[in-house]
Amino acid sequence: MSHPNCPTCQHNHYVIKAGLNRSRTQRYRCQDCARYFTPQPKPLGYDPRPVS
Ligand SMILES: [Zn+2]
Repeated sequence: MSHPNCPTCQHNHYVIKAGLNRSRTQRYRCQDCARYFTPQPKPLGYDPRPVS
């Protein structure tokens, strides 16, 4: 699995792993922007079924 794209510059060439955040999800740092970010996983508990 490759590194996620930086949400700011949309590149992943400079993205490195930067440990875990409080909720134990992988955190990354873009060395280009010098910003930390956490890739957003799919929404949990979201039911796509239409409301009838
Ligand atoms: Zn970036």
